Amino acid sequence: MKSRTMVLALILIIGISLTAVFFYKDFLKNQPVREYHSNITLDDLYNADEEVAQALAQLEKSQEKATIVTGVPGSSRQIALTFDGLTDRNTVQQILVLLEKYNSKATFFVDGLHTVEDPQTLADIKNAGQKIENFTLLGMPKMENLPIERLAKDFCRAEKIVKENATQEPNLLKCNDTKYTDQVLQVAKACGFKNVVQSDAFFNVRQGNAATTDADAFVAALRPGSIVSVKLLANIELITNEPGKTDLKPAIDKQPGLIEMSQEGLREPEIALAVEKLLIALQKAQYSTVYVEDYSKMSSKTALWPDYSNQFALLTKTASFLQEQIMALFSCPIAYAAESIGQPATEIKTIFTTEQALSYTFGGLTKESVVNDVLERLNKLGIKATFFVSEAEMKKYPQIVRKIIANKHEVGIAIRPKAGESLEETRKSIMSSSRLLKEQFGVSTNLVKQVSGPVLDTTKEAVGSLEYKLIGQSINIVQSKQKDYTSVDAIMAELFHKSMLSLARGQILYFRMDFYTDDQIVGGLLESIKQNKIDNIAYATFYDNPINNRANNSQYMIKPVGEILNNTKYTYQYPVDLQKVPPHLRHDGPEIAINSHNFLSTASQHYIGQNDVNFEDRMIGFSKMDERRLDKTGFVHTKDNVIFLTFDDWGSDAAINKLLYVLRKHNVSGTFFIITNNVLYNTNLLRAIAVEGHEIGSHSDKHKPMAVMDPRTHKYVKTQEKEEYFKDLATSYQKLREVTGDVTSNGKPALTRFFRPPTLAISKMGMEALLDTGYDYIISGSTSTNDYKAKDITQLVDTIKEGVYTQYGEVKKGAILVMHMGDSVIYTPAALDILLTANEAKADSDPSKFKVGRLSDYLFEGYSQINRKKH
Ligand SMILES: [Zn+2]
Repeated sequence: MKSRTMVLALILIIGISLTAVFFYKDFLKNQPVREYHSNITLDDLYNADEEVAQALAQLEKSQEKATIVTGVPGSSRQIALTFDGLTDRNTVQQILVLLEKYNSKATFFVDGLHTVEDPQTLADIKNAGQKIENFTLLGMPKMENLPIERLAKDFCRAEKIVKENATQEPNLLKCNDTKYTDQVLQVAKACGFKNVVQSDAFFNVRQGNAATTDADAFVAALRPGSIVSVKLLANIELITNEPGKTDLKPAIDKQPGLIEMSQEGLREPEIALAVEKLLIALQKAQYSTVYVEDYSKMSSKTALWPDYSNQFALLTKTASFLQEQIMALFSCPIAYAAESIGQPATEIKTIFTTEQALSYTFGGLTKESVVNDVLERLNKLGIKATFFVSEAEMKKYPQIVRKIIANKHEVGIAIRPKAGESLEETRKSIMSSSRLLKEQFGVSTNLVKQVSGPVLDTTKEAVGSLEYKLIGQSINIVQSKQKDYTSVDAIMAELFHKSMLSLARGQILYFRMDFYTDDQIVGGLLESIKQNKIDNIAYATFYDNPINNRANNSQYMIKPVGEILNNTKYTYQYPVDLQKVPPHLRHDGPEIAINSHNFLSTASQHYIGQNDVNFEDRMIGFSKMDERRLDKTGFVHTKDNVIFLTFDDWGSDAAINKLLYVLRKHNVSGTFFIITNNVLYNTNLLRAIAVEGHEIGSHSDKHKPMAVMDPRTHKYVKTQEKEEYFKDLATSYQKLREVTGDVTSNGKPALTRFFRPPTLAISKMGMEALLDTGYDYIISGSTSTNDYKAKDITQLVDTIKEGVYTQYGEVKKGAILVMHMGDSVIYTPAALDILLTANEAKADSDPSKFKVGRLSDYLFEGYSQINRKKH
């Protein structure tokens, strides 16, 4: 991520430069007519190719190193003061005034990029009688990790830029936070630097007051003769840690023009304040300042200032020059290979997204007839896919690659690392593929797939260091044992276990096109999979399906990987950042500790029971007296004509997506009580439920009921000990929180601390464990619809109606319907569709018209189930 921040920072710089150019141009236009001699370009001025070549040639001949200049210990009370890197001109001017005020000498190590951006700053420094030296092109840290060519390019360019803009030729080089290895010193020498500077102490001016009040302590700890550095150039890492600095929008949106930009956009008043504190502290401690050049005993030559009538031409060229520098930086292969960035890439097998979409990806171009067949069938089905092509394939089958591109499919890079291939070789192969794809086919991509063998660590590192995305697959469609199969159905049967009813959101399927003996198989498979495992996810009744109802948006689309990845409206971070979870959902454990004194009263306030669950049936650990204190109605106490839809268990996309569509269609929300055991295999679906405005509760992790009947004794017994139960409940909640903890709709979190007991059975021990774990309501319900065993839709609609209406046709206020979301539940979505459609047709004054509520709107803090007075 660091390099992203770096890019952002550089984009900010470009943005400011462009703004500056824009306003400066206008400014100049309003001046009396002037002549510009714009025949000098930045390229002429700063092209250092020759110097780089010379330096590299020099390196071949000689291994001579630059000398490191450090402090001179033991000298009298003096220090050499240096400023590292430039900041905005205004701040530098303030510092110059301060230096004069406190009669101090200083050396400014300026970076090439800032110098190009505002060369006048150097004139200010020079006019103030201070010294100018070289702080490399960008002031990049950890330069010891860079290869020789990259170092030479940086040093020579920086030298050229600073030389052109300073009256004194810089002879000292300083690298930011860099170890002066032999290589760095050799390149520095070859680029013409006899000396490099190493500071002994750094004074931090970027930590606000804390730093400035420490000035006295800082000076007290100095050794006489030290080189003291004040870093003006913001460190890249510092930007990462300051949220305000990464938020580029306000600065760019304001577009206040050159002057205001430098004052408001980037001005850092605390720097000047801190510098003054330091100068005062030095004065108090009776230190004098010398130039660091005095330590190196260097002589200065003089050079001419550039002609500032060319300022306009310079500025207009600045943006493109900066861009070129940045391109050079990032196209330089090894620039960031070492630990400066280079988090290994994570292989993306399933995309974390709630979008109703998944991907087909393809690889292997050797069989043109298969590719043609695939392209034809994709076209027929209106599918856009992702094709991974290798460099060798681009060279050997350019016409096939062109055809894929012409059909508007996405193209990514396929790599096949050889055994023992190094990180560097893998990087090179990715980059040369990328270049070829761009140059020959005009396609840019950041997608890489290793198409042979298990994904190697070097692949992950190479892809990560280039900030590409490493694409894997959820399902490998083509498997070696089926090479000679000729039947699509036979492969389908082996590929998809019977329980695997459908595919899922975010999945990536990979099809090799060069493997089957039969050329038609891949094409046949891609069609069959769509038909049997994707199209069946949509809600499709005879009166409402995606074909006859354009508003039916329940189907899943097949889209290119990059398109799904880039649709940030739907992508999310998993696990969610705990800091984004509302505080009341963050803690584990109860708000109030449960003990034997408060258990029964707490339990009875927080348990919404069920008529059939009582002392005789599915209840253990409670006395007959205790039982009377527990609710068995299963209704939420309310005067509203409201009912609650609840769904238990877990299921495939094919089952749950239909429910989601029906609820969306009627704009109502439900509560989903999830068995979490398998939920992490399909976080996308769980998150989608939450994102669509439904509430998430737990139905335990392993669905072990609190009480089951012992078939021998016909008595109810526990299924697990308290610790085990406690663990199951905590695990379940944590899984739900990891996936949905940060989701809100209408300002309310989707995640709740509601629990639905498996089979609705309860025990004293289980209830204690629930309350101890931090669950706040144990919710069964007024009607078990038994939807999983409904014989047909009419029967289910009738059962649901009984749960919703009294015998007089009035709404049973506060009714909670217990339904299911599993794959064996066939009629529930359609039955609800019928019920809700009929309800919507009723007049608002009709007493049989209900609204569908959210449980959390009624079970607010302090709601008690034993307070029978209607809320
Ligand atoms: Zn269940």
